[in-house]
Amino acid sequence: MTAEIINGNLLAQDLRVDIAARAAKLTEQGVTPGLAVILVGDSAASMVYVMNKEKASKAMGIHSVLERYDADFSETALLERIQALNEDPAIHGILVQLPLPPHIDTHKVIAAIKPEKDVDCFNVINAGLLMTGRPQIRPCTPYGVMKMLESIDYPITGAHAVIVGASNIVGKPMAMMLLQAGATITICNSKTRDLAYHTRLADILIAATGQRNIIKADMIKPGAVVIDVGVERDENGKLWSDVDFPNVKEVAGYISPVPGGVGPMTITMLLVNTIEAAEKKLQEKLQAEK
Ligand code: NAP
Repeated sequence: MTAEIINGNLLAQDLRVDIAARAAKLTEQGVTPGLAVILVGDSAASMVYVMNKEKASKAMGIHSVLERYDADFSETALLERIQALNEDPAIHGILVQLPLPPHIDTHKVIAAIKPEKDVDCFNVINAGLLMTGRPQIRPCTPYGVMKMLESIDYPITGAHAVIVGASNIVGKPMAMMLLQAGATITICNSKTRDLAYHTRLADILIAATGQRNIIKADMIKPGAVVIDVGVERDENGKLWSDVDFPNVKEVAGYISPVPGGVGPMTITMLLVNTIEAAEKKLQEKLQAEK
């Protein structure tokens, strides 16, 4: 069996047609969607992510603001900038690129973003709303994975989904979203005994560890859906991921590649979240005018 490829680039392209149309409609109605991205420090990888987000936003007609600060920018000054963006009516989404330099308390910074502008969905209020089944904003990577799963002819309800990786930004919200879609969930972490035992039970396997090729062909149930979130570049610039793609694709039923899988979907869902935040603002404005 050779797996069907879940093409994140194609799916993202389709979604972006809709995003551009919604952005244009919002602008016509007097609310141009706005996204502010803050980068502290000069990490080359973070710079690439931030530039990609800015480029994608602009291409969709989203007003995009990039604020760059030196690595010694103080926590107080950063909190002041977030406060100013919270109050700025032209900005509907605020994203602080992580990781932040060690002298800055990441939790404090994320908590300072107004929940309705927290388009990354890292704020504990949004995480809590997701956990309790009332999400206002969905975290971009798991949201993108859900769109990928919905795009294939494979039932999520009743499926056993195994998530390898339990971070706050990928593994845990992924588990919540799949649970709410009716899947039965197993979450694995670095202390899991006999990882392969669990992965072999998976109808849907989500790999999000950052450990190179941790998921091998003999760890897959034949016909399973395999989504590879992990991505890492080695010292020679070669791209690696969590899944041993050439071998796993011979066992799985569906598989997402790296590159061209989850990555483009993550950026796209950030744009979707920004549009949704702007649409809510427009609704509030129209209500207030009634
Ligand atoms: P993270 O915060 O480092 O978390 C990694 C998780 O994997 C942890 O829960 C860790 O377990 C678990 N883990 C590590 N080694 C393991 C092992 N041998 N067996 C089982 N679990 C193991 O990473 P993250 O932010 O979630 O990101 C994960 C990967 O996804 C990275 O490669 C990242 O670059 C990628 N990513 C990609 C996108 C995208 O858009 N494509 C977006 C976000 C992240 P413990 O909890 O026990 O430490």
